[in-house]
Amino acid sequence: DDLLDTTAARRWIDTFVERFRSAREELTDLDRRSGDGDFGTNVDTALDRVAAALEKARPAGPGEVFGAVSRAFLHTGGTSGPLFGMWFRELSHALAGGPSAGTGALAAGVAEGTAAVRRLGGAAVGDKTMVDALVPAAEALRAAAGEGLGVAAGLRRAARAARAGAESTRGLRARRGRASYVGEAAQDVLDPGAVLVALFFEAAGTGHGP
Ligand code: ADP
Ligand code: MG
Ligand code: MG
Repeated sequence: DDLLDTTAARRWIDTFVERFRSAREELTDLDRRSGDGDFGTNVDTALDRVAAALEKARPAGPGEVFGAVSRAFLHTGGTSGPLFGMWFRELSHALAGGPSAGTGALAAGVAEGTAAVRRLGGAAVGDKTMVDALVPAAEALRAAAGEGLGVAAGLRRAARAARAGAESTRGLRARRGRASYVGEAAQDVLDPGAVLVALFFEAAGTGHGP
């Protein structure tokens, strides 16, 4: 039935890496206009490590797949490295031990990861950071779990919520991170961290059933 197993988690990450690579220049440009322009390079470094780690390891369960992603981000520079690293760590822990995960476990992991990012970075929704996409994605997954939806349907909802959250950063003035130094000048620029969160959840869609 509709669970996230190791194969599906790996496919999700592979698709995420591909999508990121196509969007890399665009994300770098967003960070160039609002920050220091290293976002694409930071994420690229992390995702190169993920690909290498997953090739060597034989992850047993989606928790181990996301654990490899976590370690790769934690070893990467920039503000986004440790924050995504902690987010994936919580997700990994929530799924630890199981060969597959349902919507409830995913919702719990995404909620815990998002809480960790908020605790570490101090950002709230509306501060124009990745939190603007993470929080609606977490809420959408929680609602989907409550309605008894499967993983594919739950992740589709999370993707729509994350994309809407990322789009909502246009027109906002950043109150956290480097973009807050630029203020009004970068108001029309989407937050690259929030856009990456949308790409991540959208990448879950491919290869799953209806
Ligand atoms: P740096 O500013 O160190 O160059 P990156 O370019 O790696 O960082 O990452 C920038 C992204 O990090 C932003 O797009 C934003 O989403 C996220 N970010 C920055 N500060 C915070 C924070 N305090 N809380 C949450 N996310 C943040
Ligand atoms: Mg940067
Ligand atoms: Mg930087």
